[in-house]
Amino acid sequence: MVAGWSRLVAEMPELLYIMGTARSGSTILEILLASGDSVFGGGELSCLIKDGFVHNTTCSCGVACMDCEVWGKVVEDMCLDRQELEAWAALQQRVDWHDGFFRQMFRLLPDKDLERYRTLTSRLLEAISRTTGCAMVVDSSKYAGRALALARVVGAGIKVVCLTRSPSGLMASFQKQNKNEQRPKSPTAALAYYLVTLASLRLAIWRLGRENVFMLRYETLMANPEEVLESIGCWAGIDIKPTLRRLRRQKDFDVGHLVTANRLRKRGRVRFNPSCSTIFPRGITARMVVILMNLWRLGLGF
Ligand SMILES: [Zn+2]
Repeated sequence: MVAGWSRLVAEMPELLYIMGTARSGSTILEILLASGDSVFGGGELSCLIKDGFVHNTTCSCGVACMDCEVWGKVVEDMCLDRQELEAWAALQQRVDWHDGFFRQMFRLLPDKDLERYRTLTSRLLEAISRTTGCAMVVDSSKYAGRALALARVVGAGIKVVCLTRSPSGLMASFQKQNKNEQRPKSPTAALAYYLVTLASLRLAIWRLGRENVFMLRYETLMANPEEVLESIGCWAGIDIKPTLRRLRRQKDFDVGHLVTANRLRKRGRVRFNPSCSTIFPRGITARMVVILMNLWRLGLGF
């Protein structure tokens, strides 16, 4: 939520980063956490530059990114031309995404790229803070590589929520047709995604320090949303009372200013209806793969 248009807050805001597996409720968790005062939900910042600043996607507030009351001002504050924005989008991909995680782990990124990443990310976060007046930004990019880069390259004060989902629920979700998000994954593709993503998350937690990571499962959030939100609020220093009041009154939540591809972005407002019903994947192959995924999950301690 935009708390005001104060220009007093100029330093780097605190960051709450949601890292984890796809289809695990990261966007709704961000909306809930950012509905209090002084917290701004930035969406998936790892895709903001490409989708928002380069392609000028429509923001969830209903206007093109460049005309949005937040992102229009932020990009103006950054003073970068189109070529520089395109280069930044490509750099984000090299550093943040799945292969970027391994580039960071094996120190394969040139110093000049890391310096550029540090400078641009710091300027972006400061511009968000100046524009919104918020002292905390929630980034739901999910990539373990970005969590590592924010903590170790940018040196940002970062707290990380690690959000995962049961293999069965994840596989069933990957089987659904969804035109607005990722295409359905085959059981083999889902397995490959799960093996790589969970290993990256485990390594990232080790590098970030366990005390900086709040472990959460999608199923726990759905079963006990109030308890989970109170715990995260207490741990991250967010006043979660406005969110809980809205939840108890079953009121809608403002989606805020999301520009990354997600079906919630097009709604503008959303009501949180936690569903505890378990969904199961279809087909014998998918169910066999789920067994392997569960073994991997247990082996990595998730
Ligand atoms: Zn907007």
